[in-house]
Amino acid sequence: MTQFDIIVIGAGPAGSAAATWAAKQGRSVALIDKASFPRNKLCGGLFTERSRTYYHEIFGQDVDLAHAVTREEIAFWHEGRELAVLSDIPPLHLTMRLDLDAAMFAHALDAGVEDFTGQAIAELTETAVKLRNGSSLTAAVIIGADGVNSIVAKQLFGKPFDTKTIGFGLEVEVPLSAQDPAEQLLRIDFAAATWGYGWSFPKQGSTTVGVGGLRAPNPDMKDHMQRYMHTLGLPSEAVKIKGHHLPFGDFRPTPGRAHILLAGDAAGLVDPITGEGIAFAMKSGQLAAQAACDALNAYAPHAAIELYKSGLKDMHRNLRIARNLRRIIFAPRWQKAFIGTFRRSGTVRMMYMRLLAGEVEYPELARRVLARLPRYLLNAIRRTP
Ligand SMILES: Cc1cc2nc3c(=O)[nH]c(=O)nc-3n(C[C@H](O)[C@H](O)[C@H](O)COP(=O)(O)OP(=O)(O)OC[C@H]3O[C@@H](n4cnc5c(N)ncnc54)[C@H](O)[C@@H]3O)c2cc1C
Repeated sequence: MTQFDIIVIGAGPAGSAAATWAAKQGRSVALIDKASFPRNKLCGGLFTERSRTYYHEIFGQDVDLAHAVTREEIAFWHEGRELAVLSDIPPLHLTMRLDLDAAMFAHALDAGVEDFTGQAIAELTETAVKLRNGSSLTAAVIIGADGVNSIVAKQLFGKPFDTKTIGFGLEVEVPLSAQDPAEQLLRIDFAAATWGYGWSFPKQGSTTVGVGGLRAPNPDMKDHMQRYMHTLGLPSEAVKIKGHHLPFGDFRPTPGRAHILLAGDAAGLVDPITGEGIAFAMKSGQLAAQAACDALNAYAPHAAIELYKSGLKDMHRNLRIARNLRRIIFAPRWQKAFIGTFRRSGTVRMMYMRLLAGEVEYPELARRVLARLPRYLLNAIRRTP
């Protein structure tokens, strides 16, 4: 039995951030992942300036964007019609998760974290983890950063997420040869899925094309994907489409219990409008690690959850406002009004853009959007459950 201060399960953005932050404070940390790194993760890889700021703060250096594509122009479409092309927007970086996550994991190792990647978990209890290779680890605090299908969340709450409210995304990596490089614009298509959208993200050598949204109103997500590929003029036959759940606004008000904390997708921390999750995963990993360290310093590991909840207050407030605003942007009955406003108002377009780029937070956006909506619409939205 090997003893650590903190065990982190999952070495994605949330887990690597948590492990790095705790190790930098002198804590002994075990980082477990069933995968060996580098490993891929189904994701658009859109990395905002918000992500960049968090990355620098947590890992102590700027993210390496040598293999990324950076765009300062974006096109918005709705039902096959171009709504707007915005130029001079805040930079958006299109990364490959294979590289990005490997870099974060390397930072964790540099910080002195002990590597237990490439090893599946055989048994999990409140204070110990037994790996399939027979080794057992114990710790006073456990951080579950094991993604949307979290076994830690399942252990605590009986299931990793709520099937009624969870989101789902489909993606395909289209090789550049299938596309005209000049057409490689960063593009978002409202309504490509119900309560969701479609995206086409240029990368070096390929384009990541996807559709995503709430799972329940989209039993036909694969059809949406095929229609979207057709809209983009891409062949949809014989391409391997992959899917993954996405906690799209599905955050847990209490992400954990006592000395067991959940971070990133395991805590449901994905923006309900933009689908951004990398930034919130890193930030929540850092906050979970800080709460764990503070609780350990006070010899009160069971107090970790209350400290963590208080650290997450601003993020939860933002996501709560975003979930309410989502009704205006995505609900089929209001979407026409939103699209009309988006087409007419340069201010709303720029605000949306700054939101996507991580430059503006939801309270400000809510004030601006709501001020532009007719009163009857506002009342109707308030009445919508
Ligand atoms: C289709 C799609 C597109 C997306 N596009 C974007 C985007 O463009 N930009 C953006 O910001 N976000 C995007 N997201 C969201 C983003 O991918 C997630 O929010 C982010 O990866 C969350 O990071 P995480 O560290 O919490 O979890 P993950 O990145 O999922 O990492 C979890 C880790 O835990 C490990 N693990 C899982 N189970 C176990 C286990 N039992 N034992 C040990 N280890 C385990 C996994 O191997 C993995 O390494 C997208 C998501 C989807 C599905």
